[in-house]
Amino acid sequence: EISIRGLEKSFGLLKAVDNVSIDIPSGEFLALLGPSGSGKSTVLMMLAGFEVPTGGAVLIDGTDCTRLPPQKRNIGMVFQHYSLFPHMTVADNVAFPLKMRGMGRAERRRRAGEALEVVRLGGYGDRMPSQLSGGQRQRVALARAIVYEPRLLLMDEPLSALDKNLREEMQLEIKRLHSELGITVVFVTHDQGEALTMADRIAILRGGRIQQMSPARELYERPANLFAAGFIGEMN
Ligand code: ATP
Ligand code: MG
Repeated sequence: EISIRGLEKSFGLLKAVDNVSIDIPSGEFLALLGPSGSGKSTVLMMLAGFEVPTGGAVLIDGTDCTRLPPQKRNIGMVFQHYSLFPHMTVADNVAFPLKMRGMGRAERRRRAGEALEVVRLGGYGDRMPSQLSGGQRQRVALARAIVYEPRLLLMDEPLSALDKNLREEMQLEIKRLHSELGITVVFVTHDQGEALTMADRIAILRGGRIQQMSPARELYERPANLFAAGFIGEMN
């Protein structure tokens, strides 16, 4: 279970994240939905440990992780402007987090191969990233995020660069991974349709604050809630 308590991040005078509290039960698929600049990426970077909060705390299974560096957290992340290392093979890209954690070469190879199987890219390990399609690269990024079997998978608009078909295909792929691996997912998007189809629960962020928090089903059934949040007006 992840407990985000009164999380804050200031950049100079700007409060990018302002008093955000969310309890995320194990196995939940949570979407962070909000317009550009609402603080979504900043929340995710603090969960991953790449940004240190200026206030509040992040607890994972009761342990205070607020100030732990990324490699000490059991978290996989797909970044918003992710890039694979262009000079490394697909397998080496996927194995990179294991290398960072000091794992031996043979074990790294084996685990990277398994992670590539999970995203249905077994047999692509020896290719270079430039030899893959956009969707395949996205799946490699996903394999890299799950390679050390994290308890929590963070994804920052992982599909925003893809065309509609590939996007829908990848949405299904990510949902499949979520149910197969049974891990907790926090998924950032500015696309409300994507949030509605993928998430169990949706937190709407605006100006660094949580505007509304609802089960996805509730937003489906009572879309007036969305309007009430002033979200659509701000998006369009
Ligand atoms: P987008 O949908 O465009 O990715 P976002 O919701 O992810 O937006 P953030 O990247 O979290 O938004 O940014 C929130 C606010 O914090 C913005 O006003 C942004 O300009 C500011 N911000 C983010 N990172 C920094 C930084 N390193 N230094 C200064 N300001 C920052
Ligand atoms: Mg962002």
